[in-house]
Amino acid sequence: MKLMFLDPKRPLPTCASTDCEDCPVQSRLHCHFNGQDLVRFLAIAFPPFIVGGLGIVRLNAWLLLPWVVLFFSYFGLVEIRVMCSHCPHYAEAGTKSIQCWANYGSPKLWQYRPGPMTRGEKFVFYAGLVLIAGYPLALLIASAQWLLLALFIVLVVAMGTAMRFTMCNQCMNFACPLNQVEPGVRAIFFARNPRVAQAWKSASKQ
Ligand code: SF4
Ligand code: SF4
Repeated sequence: MKLMFLDPKRPLPTCASTDCEDCPVQSRLHCHFNGQDLVRFLAIAFPPFIVGGLGIVRLNAWLLLPWVVLFFSYFGLVEIRVMCSHCPHYAEAGTKSIQCWANYGSPKLWQYRPGPMTRGEKFVFYAGLVLIAGYPLALLIASAQWLLLALFIVLVVAMGTAMRFTMCNQCMNFACPLNQVEPGVRAIFFARNPRVAQAWKSASKQ
């Protein structure tokens, strides 16, 4: 039977360790994922989308279409290329899609590219987020739906805060500009993942 997530007992494909037992970063970094992680992510991420979508539909349901297209192209393709393809989770061979706590199911169309994101990739990463949040924001303002606008803003801030303190502070993708993992934990991870460490070292010399 095909498993929904990668084997939690097997170290990452980039990791030189033979097992994760006794790894000092095991409790500080999320190297493996499960259904609970995915449900938690969806519970954090979806409320602002529901409120934003409701505001758009109240104005004109057809206006939802560009937002949906933007959503799937960004989280299903663009973000995967510019950000996820740098993630050690993405390096797993033999899987055609991402099996982590966020962007679950997005296709892996590109090679794994260890090391930091380029300036251009960071620009595209942020531009996509601004567009996705800005679209409902602009329509809520234009249609003077002040209550939904206030709720949307509160939920976006709550989402960002919850992600920062429950996910970004444990995420193994140090390339993401929103990553909050502290240097000491990064150093231990690099020591166990020489391929990743080497890519960061080479990039720092350029
Ligand atoms: S760094 Fe390697 S050994 Fe440590 S938890 Fe992650 S995959 Fe396992
Ligand atoms: S960067 Fe985050 S969303 Fe992308 S593959 Fe890694 S863990 Fe998943």
